[in-house]
Amino acid sequence: MTAVDDRSAFYKNTEVAGFDDVSYEEKERLFGLVKADMRFPDYLYGCYECGICVAACPSARFYDFSPRRIAQAVAREDIELVYQQMQEDVWECSQCFSCVRCPRGNNPGGIITVLREVAVNNGLASAREALEGYSRIIYKIMSTGTQVSPDMLQPDAFPDWGPEVKDVSDNLDVWRRALPPETLHTTSTGWDVDERTLLELYLIWFHTGALDMIKEVDEGLHMILQEVMEERLEDAGIEV
Ligand code: SF4
Ligand code: SF4
Repeated sequence: MTAVDDRSAFYKNTEVAGFDDVSYEEKERLFGLVKADMRFPDYLYGCYECGICVAACPSARFYDFSPRRIAQAVAREDIELVYQQMQEDVWECSQCFSCVRCPRGNNPGGIITVLREVAVNNGLASAREALEGYSRIIYKIMSTGTQVSPDMLQPDAFPDWGPEVKDVSDNLDVWRRALPPETLHTTSTGWDVDERTLLELYLIWFHTGALDMIKEVDEGLHMILQEVMEERLEDAGIEV
């Protein structure tokens, strides 16, 4: 038995609240996917437990969240705890990467990225829940190649923005045309994306599996996006 196997066996009996309905073998399989990620060896070298990452982490100030706990659980191969963190803690990270100042050379935010990706790719309940409110934004980004568009920022949705926001919203087109770069003279997209760039983005999302990731968390959204992209690619004479 290797040292790594020893660690896993030791933590097999770790008591972690909840998630008893998921077998240890399944949790182990998911952890295997995390470790198999090509970025993993560059993101974790061990942990001094110094807490510098926690001191730098903005999310740790506002939530019961600690990048140190995540780095330690992964380094110790505590499979039960890592599974719990994939279902809970990892969604508190704002992916700012302030934690890369780790003296051990770890990238706790990067480890969290990998944990999140495994959670999404395997349709974990936490991933569905975390992304539930973002389907409109994901649709916008992946169909237009731009982020949140001005016409999505309606006063009803942001009552805390004050009375001026209604005036801005009513005259959005005028405000946008007043901006110097012509690519911003649009309200239905964040900025104008030229056709070639958009097709390239579609191809990247198809071929890297980014589009397929959505299928595990929102099948309906995946179907709509696939149709939009395929149609536009076909119009341009590109088969996928
Ligand atoms: S990337 Fe995540 S864990 Fe790292 S400092 Fe930012 S919020 Fe904290
Ligand atoms: S800064 Fe690095 S070594 Fe220190 S607790 Fe965080 S992950 Fe561990």
